[in-house]
Amino acid sequence: MALDSKIPEGSISDKWTNYKDHINLVNPANKRNLDIIVVGTGLAGGSAAATLAELGYNVKSFCFQDSPRRAHSIAAQGGINAAKNYQGDGDSTFRLFYDTVKGGDYRSREANVHRLAEVSTNIIDQCVAQGVPFAREYGGLLDNRSFGGTLVSRTFYAKGQTGQQLLLGAYSAMNRQIGRGKIKMHNRHEMLDLVIVDGKARGIIARDLVSGKIERHSAHAVVIASGGYGNVFFLSTNAMGSNVTAAWKIHKRGAFFANPCYTQIHPTCIPVSGEHQAKLTLMSESLRNDGRIWVPAKIEDAKAIREGKLKPTQIAEADRDYYLERRYPAFGNLVPRDIASRAAKERCDAGFGVNKTGEAVYLDFAAAIQRYGVDQARLKHQDENDLALVTKLGTEVVANKYGNLFQMYEKIVDENPYSTPMMIYPAVHYTMGGTWVDYNLQTTIPGCFSIGESNFSDHGANRLGASALMQGLADGYFVLPYTIGDYLAPDIKMGTISTDSPEFEAAEKNVLAQIDQLINANGTKPADYFHKKLGKIMWDKVGMARNATGLAEAQAEIAQIREEFYKDVKIPGTADSFNPELAKALRIADFLELGELFAKDALNRNESCGGHFREEYQTPEGEAQRDDENYAYVAAWEYKGSPSDAVLHKEALVFDNVKLVQRSYK
Ligand SMILES: Cc1cc2nc3c(=O)[nH]c(=O)nc-3n(C[C@H](O)[C@H](O)[C@H](O)COP(=O)(O)OP(=O)(O)OC[C@H]3O[C@@H](n4cnc5c(N)ncnc54)[C@H](O)[C@@H]3O)c2cc1C
Repeated sequence: MALDSKIPEGSISDKWTNYKDHINLVNPANKRNLDIIVVGTGLAGGSAAATLAELGYNVKSFCFQDSPRRAHSIAAQGGINAAKNYQGDGDSTFRLFYDTVKGGDYRSREANVHRLAEVSTNIIDQCVAQGVPFAREYGGLLDNRSFGGTLVSRTFYAKGQTGQQLLLGAYSAMNRQIGRGKIKMHNRHEMLDLVIVDGKARGIIARDLVSGKIERHSAHAVVIASGGYGNVFFLSTNAMGSNVTAAWKIHKRGAFFANPCYTQIHPTCIPVSGEHQAKLTLMSESLRNDGRIWVPAKIEDAKAIREGKLKPTQIAEADRDYYLERRYPAFGNLVPRDIASRAAKERCDAGFGVNKTGEAVYLDFAAAIQRYGVDQARLKHQDENDLALVTKLGTEVVANKYGNLFQMYEKIVDENPYSTPMMIYPAVHYTMGGTWVDYNLQTTIPGCFSIGESNFSDHGANRLGASALMQGLADGYFVLPYTIGDYLAPDIKMGTISTDSPEFEAAEKNVLAQIDQLINANGTKPADYFHKKLGKIMWDKVGMARNATGLAEAQAEIAQIREEFYKDVKIPGTADSFNPELAKALRIADFLELGELFAKDALNRNESCGGHFREEYQTPEGEAQRDDENYAYVAAWEYKGSPSDAVLHKEALVFDNVKLVQRSYK
């Protein structure tokens, strides 16, 4: 099957406008004849469901949590980008587009990214109208801060709780439609298969997680908004429930899976503390606006710190290595995440790590506290040479900006980050790969769409900070509502789709068979045992640095764990009751397949780009070495019975509007 990305004709800045001017529309009276299933109620699914229902479609929404407002999006901390140029610092649609393509190391589709930059400004207006309390400046205007990979301030934020506030906005928009009966909400339901009738997605099979009942749901189109798959690593900053099941099930039904190996390892997370940990905690990238990252310059100081003989505050300025500022003077601490993460690993691998395991670097606010303190003292006509006063005033400013993050850090690490630098280390955070979609956000299955983090669409090989919320809301509020109408226009007279058909029957049987197999395995080990094993292989061999030998080993080892899993997993309880262990095992079964494809994809890509770092392909300075001649393509994998048999399709990437050069942030 040839991949057709359906990019509209015309210049990059006219494509989206021309597209909207010429697509098929569904008239308001006919929208009520059409049903749409939306799997997921995070920022992508929530905004899509609310908008589609507002337009008049009948929406059936699904989430596995007990409420849409508990979707993982609620955890997003730092902010959301938009090319408003409120700061007058030179931002524009083109610059946001350019930064995103460059940030993704030239592995994303230009047309989609430009559209994203265009609609970014609408998102802010939409959310403000909903009452999202973005931070404001003294004069009342919306405030901005900077995120990595940019030279402008374009990130809108609500303290360190931006995702929560945005999700409350989307959730209230959804609730309005739930109240009107236009959205039928199915909380605590997990989609376990896609139903295809005559070549088109026409429904899903879902399990009621409370009763264990298997249900059939039909619609004229199905939208997958199920989030990312970072939890394939077991430990990540994602919510523990985040999983790949919905995306993987559609993959097995014919949706190509694109660039599975593109994973973002976030540089500022609280380091792993032990074997019994099930979750990692992010310290938002916004902290890099003010925090300076460093390790001791002398190896003996690093050793003394690890042994508890020296404190970071005892190390003189001259004996500190602010390695990001040293290596990347133009962007400093605000280089993109992939670069900051690798630089931290490089210093720790060289022996400069500062916690007991040697896998941590410092994020230090002392300079910012002094800077803000002096500023405040001047403003208040107080003594700027009074160190105690300046520290107090500066601490207040930092607390106002990042208070909840500092509090979270102190609760977890039991150290006061105002007076001693935070310790941070990279951790798995976001997945740029996902289901392949065309310009319409439609997968290779007609009628099956994929939005938000579950698709691969906009971020190439590395997502810039604060761009995931932008993409999820762009897809849900502003893109899908157009593109799905174009697809549905011929179906207006079809009537309700029956679930009493051989296709629904077969899909339901498929789900029941897998549940039966797992429940009856009667093994000896809990599902988590296999997940942890998978995660360790993923981190050691498919993580921040990969090589051909490790990747080949990983594929074989993951296939082996999968085999053991089906023989030896122990799931207590029954299939037809509330059974969280069964729900977990079903998700892990899919991670065990995805993990293998992930390693296969990484092995296929003989280059380094963005978050995909192959040790064999690096510059003498240790930077990612792309191979544009051979790898400027999206790797879209077609399922053929097992991950090892997956077939590669290539979507060539064309760069007409940005110059394809090796990335530099110096
Ligand atoms: C700690 C943290 C902080 C972050 N901070 C930022 C930030 O500041 N700025 C930024 O831009 N990005 C940030 N991100 C990334 C961003 O939060 C996510 O990429 C984004 O929220 C994903 O939204 P989504 O709607 O695609 O998916 P999610 O919010 O993950 O929602 C997925 C939905 O799908 C449902 N679902 C999944 N599978 C099934 C199934 N099989 N059946 C039924 N329902 C299912 C879930 O119930 C849920 O409702 C952060 C990420 C993390 C981990």
